[in-house]
Amino acid sequence: MHGCHLLSIEVITYGASQMITPVLLQDGNECILVDCGYPDSIPQLAQAVADAGFTLERITKIIATHHDIDHIGSLGALKRMLPNADIIAHEIEAPYLEGTLKSQRQAQAESTLHELPREAVPGAEQFIALLASVEKAAVDRQVRHGDVLPWCGGVEVVHTPGHMSGHISLYLPASRTMIAGDAVVIEEGELRIANPQYTLDLEEAVASVRRLMSYEIDTLICYHGGCFQGDVQEALRDLASRY
Ligand SMILES: [Zn+2]
Repeated sequence: MHGCHLLSIEVITYGASQMITPVLLQDGNECILVDCGYPDSIPQLAQAVADAGFTLERITKIIATHHDIDHIGSLGALKRMLPNADIIAHEIEAPYLEGTLKSQRQAQAESTLHELPREAVPGAEQFIALLASVEKAAVDRQVRHGDVLPWCGGVEVVHTPGHMSGHISLYLPASRTMIAGDAVVIEEGELRIANPQYTLDLEEAVASVRRLMSYEIDTLICYHGGCFQGDVQEALRDLASRY
């Protein structure tokens, strides 16, 4: 029996509330967490996991879709709690997660610092310091496009760069479910490219939307927005046609 549980977590960032949606995949042997939230969010994560009928201690694998702070902020702390849980990420993401390369998001923020109006600089510097402070974690297994992880009836790795260069989505053919991470987001009920300001390569991001279109998807799960309601193929086609 395979399960796919959405773990909706409310977070307050810069005074505004937002929902994020890590996912818990489970079969008879494995309990796999896909993304894990901001730093210091383990108590909320534990609550969401408990609401789904599990405990954090049962987690055997953690898959990181990419190294943005809202997805892997708690990864290092989780790994300390669960030393036997393997961390899995795309081979391009591994050095960023491990700290041998500087976070792409941090580099992006630093490169635009000089263009900001003076009053925006302290906030941007604070953001850069926050990104620099994210705890690093070793990647136990590096994956690439087309790899099929042998759990939950098969978890297919779909490389969906653009938002970040090693971003992955995960396809579960048994239930025709796509866990899209930040390859697409839901805003006002509509599929969109994640905040273009944070998309490192828009052209690649659009190509990734086209790549998602080649899968038979009944259920599309976005980290920002949860489960998409509506015709997934049509919504993806519509999104790609806007670029
Ligand atoms: Zn995100």
